[in-house]
Amino acid sequence: MNRNQPHEKLLNWYDQHRRVLPWRALPGEAADPYCVWLSEIMLQQTTVATVKNRYDAFISRWPNVHALAEALLDDVLSEWAGLGYYARARNLHKCAIEISRNLGGVFPTDEDGLKSLPGIGDYTAAAISSIAYDNASVVVDGNVERVMARLFRIEEALPGAKKPIRKHAKTLTPNKRAGDYAQAVMDLGATICTPRKPSCEYCPWQSGCLAFAKGDVERFPVKAPKKKRPTRRATIYWLQREGSSGREVWMRRRPEQGLLGGMMEFPSDKWLVEREANAPPVAANWEGLPGEVVHIFTHFRLELDVRQAIVGAFEPEDGRWVAVRDLGSIALPTVMKKVAEHVLPGQFND
Ligand code: SF4
Repeated sequence: MNRNQPHEKLLNWYDQHRRVLPWRALPGEAADPYCVWLSEIMLQQTTVATVKNRYDAFISRWPNVHALAEALLDDVLSEWAGLGYYARARNLHKCAIEISRNLGGVFPTDEDGLKSLPGIGDYTAAAISSIAYDNASVVVDGNVERVMARLFRIEEALPGAKKPIRKHAKTLTPNKRAGDYAQAVMDLGATICTPRKPSCEYCPWQSGCLAFAKGDVERFPVKAPKKKRPTRRATIYWLQREGSSGREVWMRRRPEQGLLGGMMEFPSDKWLVEREANAPPVAANWEGLPGEVVHIFTHFRLELDVRQAIVGAFEPEDGRWVAVRDLGSIALPTVMKKVAEHVLPGQFND
């Protein structure tokens, strides 16, 4: 591949085929760092299609970083529903507060300054620095990894291949129109150099692509064999009473740190590979419900048996009573929605 040409070919292609995305500046417009940051945090481990709706709702409710900083955390968590990984929403809120109150509402322009903020790691810092400020930062997401691995036929398996991929990505990143270039490689990966059946006939980089020349594009990126996801099991408890708000269920908040940090949950035993025999959290006439709730987390599969009971007078030390009719409007992790749906089928569909 002629090293002087690739970025120009790609930018020409991008000028004609760029995706129109709600957070993306139109040609000739300056990108808004707030929009770039918000979209990049939302897009982590989530698809563009899922993010589009949530992004529009966020922007109309909190159109700038000051507005988001003033928002209640619970409101932010509610708007985040469906995007998963609630720790990201908590960091998003923290980051907005930091920028609004301590940085005058202005995002840092360089990667180090950006990385010092909550929830902004290497990739996001590079993406913001590049897209919002046109710095020649090396932006490597899953799409870029795939494109580079194919262009250069990188035989090393991911994640070990990240280093050579980054090295190649750096050699291709131009100083001018760096933000457009970064978005162009991502668009190429998302629309042309797709994981299966890439449309190489439309690719502006076809003539220099080593995998295309060899006819084995789908072999790249090489991936290390996947480890099997372990299964954890537990019993989860639905304790109900008739309270001042009608039917109420006992919920508590998960610890701030860790999986689903700070989110509301129904009490359960510990989620363990080897199930422990535990007594229910309170003495009541517990009944097991038929079936189980299954939820797949990134690192494990969770199987929950659900038990329910109705009590009269009981005030939990840990947690609070929540009106069942409010369950659809509070920020609940998907696994807890599944539990509610299991107990009361048909009442919690979106
Ligand atoms: Fe990807 Fe095909 Fe383009 Fe190579 S030629 S970069 S495999 S789309």
